[in-house]
Amino acid sequence: MAPALPQKLHEIEARMAAAGGSGKAQLLAVSKLQTTAAIREVYALGQRDFGENYVQEAAEKRQALADLDITWHLIGPLQSNKAAQAARLFDWVQSIDRAKIVPLLGHGRQGLPPLQVLIQVNVDDEQSKSGCVPDAIPGLADLIQQQPNLCLRGLMAIPAPADSAARQRAFRSMFEWYEQLRERYPTVDTLSMGMSDDFELAIHEGANLIRVGSALFGARKSA
Ligand SMILES: *Cc1c(COP(=O)(O)O)cnc(C)c1O
Repeated sequence: MAPALPQKLHEIEARMAAAGGSGKAQLLAVSKLQTTAAIREVYALGQRDFGENYVQEAAEKRQALADLDITWHLIGPLQSNKAAQAARLFDWVQSIDRAKIVPLLGHGRQGLPPLQVLIQVNVDDEQSKSGCVPDAIPGLADLIQQQPNLCLRGLMAIPAPADSAARQRAFRSMFEWYEQLRERYPTVDTLSMGMSDDFELAIHEGANLIRVGSALFGARKSA
C-alpha cells in the first residue's frame, strides 16, 4: 500500500530540512488533477498554499473548498482570454511570461487586494516551453510595477529535465537574476523552483518556494 498523506508530507518536510539552504523554504502543494478530498486532507495537516494549473479546474475546486482558508497559486500557462478570471480567482499568479497579460491581470484584479505575481523565466532557452527569456525580466518587472493591483514578488522556473549538473546551472542562473531583481524591488522575496524530483537541489541553490505534486499526492489522474 502507498504511504498515507500524513506520512508523505512528513517525509517531504524532512527532506526540505535536510536540504539546508537558508532554512526558510516554503512548500506549495501542487493539487492539479487531484481530488478536493485529498486537498482537504492535506489542509487538515496544516498546509495552506496550493497550486493549480488550469483556470476552470481551479474555479470548481475553489468553490467546493470555499470553507477553507487556502492561498491559491496559478502555476500553469495563462491564456490572455483567461487572465481577468484568473486575476480574481487566485491569490498568486506565478506564470507571467509576456507583457500582454500584465495589464489584463491588473485590470481584472480591480477592487480586490493586490495580486501577488511572479515572472516565469525560460531558463533553458527552449523554444517550446513557457517562460520569458531572461533578458525580458527587467521590462516585465517595470510593467508589473506600474500596475497598482499587482505586487511583484519574484521569479519562477521549470528547468527542462536534464542531468543534475545542468539543473544546477539553471538554478544558479535563476538565483542570480532573483538577486538582481531583489536589489531593485523591495517587494521581491520569492524564488519558486524545484519540484518532486529536484527540490532538494533547488533549495540548496536558493529556492524559497518549492512546488511539489506527485511526491505528496501520488500520481495524478490524466487530464
Ligand atoms: C505539475 C507541476 C509541478 C509539480 O510537479 P511534480 O513533479 O508532480 O512535483 C510543479 N510546478 C509546475 C509548474 C507544475 O506544472
